[in-house]
Amino acid sequence: MHPILGIDFGTTNTSAAWFDAHGKLKVAPVTDKSAVLPSVAWFPSADTAKCLVGQAARTQLIDDQKHTVFGAKRFLGRRFNSEYVARHRDRFAFDLVEGADGYTSVLIYGQIISLVEVAGVVVRDIVARAARAAGHPFTHCVMTVPAHASVRQREAVRKAAASAGLTVAAMVNEPTAAALFYANLRSPRQTVLIFDLGGGTFDATVMRVENRVVKVLATGGDAFLGGGNFDELIAETFAQRLESEHGISVRHNRTVMQRLGLAAEFAKIQLSRAEVLDVRVPVVAQKESGGFIDLQHRLTRQEMESIVAPLVERCVGSCDDVLQRAGLTPTDIDELVLVGGQTRMPYIRSRLSHFPRHSSEKDLNPELGVAVGAAILGRNLRRTKSSGLNDVVAMPMSVMLVGGRTLEIIPANTPVPCTKSIALEGLPPWSAPVPLVLFESLDQTAVDREIIGTVHISEEWRTRKDVVPSLELSVGPDFALTAKLVAPGGMQTQLQIVDQRR
Ligand code: AMP
Repeated sequence: MHPILGIDFGTTNTSAAWFDAHGKLKVAPVTDKSAVLPSVAWFPSADTAKCLVGQAARTQLIDDQKHTVFGAKRFLGRRFNSEYVARHRDRFAFDLVEGADGYTSVLIYGQIISLVEVAGVVVRDIVARAARAAGHPFTHCVMTVPAHASVRQREAVRKAAASAGLTVAAMVNEPTAAALFYANLRSPRQTVLIFDLGGGTFDATVMRVENRVVKVLATGGDAFLGGGNFDELIAETFAQRLESEHGISVRHNRTVMQRLGLAAEFAKIQLSRAEVLDVRVPVVAQKESGGFIDLQHRLTRQEMESIVAPLVERCVGSCDDVLQRAGLTPTDIDELVLVGGQTRMPYIRSRLSHFPRHSSEKDLNPELGVAVGAAILGRNLRRTKSSGLNDVVAMPMSVMLVGGRTLEIIPANTPVPCTKSIALEGLPPWSAPVPLVLFESLDQTAVDREIIGTVHISEEWRTRKDVVPSLELSVGPDFALTAKLVAPGGMQTQLQIVDQRR
């Protein structure tokens, strides 16, 4: 039986790892020097079979922005009419549109292509690289997802793997995967805080590692915060510079803003090593006299740090919250484990100096730790059929009743698997089918709640005036969600969770 492939499909980069027949860890090679594949897909036509992935596609971000899709994971499994998509879609030069299923898709040469397909193309590419290096095909994989991924986002990642021809043996939260990797590396008993800041999301997770078993104590973070936001703030400074120096506004021009964003990312990465960089983006606008305007900006590391400081503070604040929820202080943490490419920024490490011990880049490659953790989980599953994981629900799950009242059913940080129920008291007389909306949200009042779907109360329940039914939700070890209506006398009905377009 072939090994299970661990795949980290990231907002910015994708990587894969596995253990060969001799128990040796392998990573899918991408270039001679690198094992990370840029999560970028370029479509030279509407034919997805002709799509190019990785570095070759990345170079098209300059020449063919409309047909080069990057950061697709940000929108994967999100409804097109959601607050999130409305807020972020204008920052990308490719066209995001609504797919037939209501989820966000891209428009390529007039054809609507789902983001599940785009993600599938990237996953297929890394799997092919792994298979070539291993000398055999892979049929099963462990996929990683951000701790705050919603039920629908998890489902979309599963479908993307399926479209690449793989069966998903397990899904694991990215910080948990990083901890698994870490647990294999270090002494048997530790309390660790995983600080995972990638291209699109931030997760902070406190875990207890004991004899290679990982128990999540608390998790938190920000699904809207990642390296891409750092780039946006720096690009905004460039736009301001153009405005003050040349009196032109480029903010409405998505093509120019994307180029400024790419220059910002390049500068940000360079300034992790250098102290100062001369940024130049040629031909961002035309002068009335006919000549061209270039952006020229000398950016120092110090200036960049002051630009991104508010974002770093948000990360540090989230860490404090998570620690507080676990009843711990920084000195209780044996090691702060830094995961995600954005943690390579020296300023982030220095801002976290109140944690006595940090993981070093030598031990833990911030970009590969998650894929390797997924491979370890794959190996555990092959050997013992059990994952050795104790994860928690990151996003509370709630129900919205007719009239808009909301009730929380599963609170944040509930260990999985779990089953929780809530009595549906005080409902209006049920004379017609009653739809109840299930949703996930860190903040009950937030507009950006993620709708899971709707359950409908059937006739037999509506006509029973003598019982108060409870709505029961169960989250499986793999975060699969099921719903039931139960009554004290033992009557119960499995409910179908309908994924409605609106
Ligand atoms: P990941 O999703 O883990 O691959 O992280 C990608 C993010 O890390 C992107 O926003 C990159 O710009 C950022 N990144 C990668 N390398 C560096 C670096 N050396 N310094 C700062 N940020 C980096």
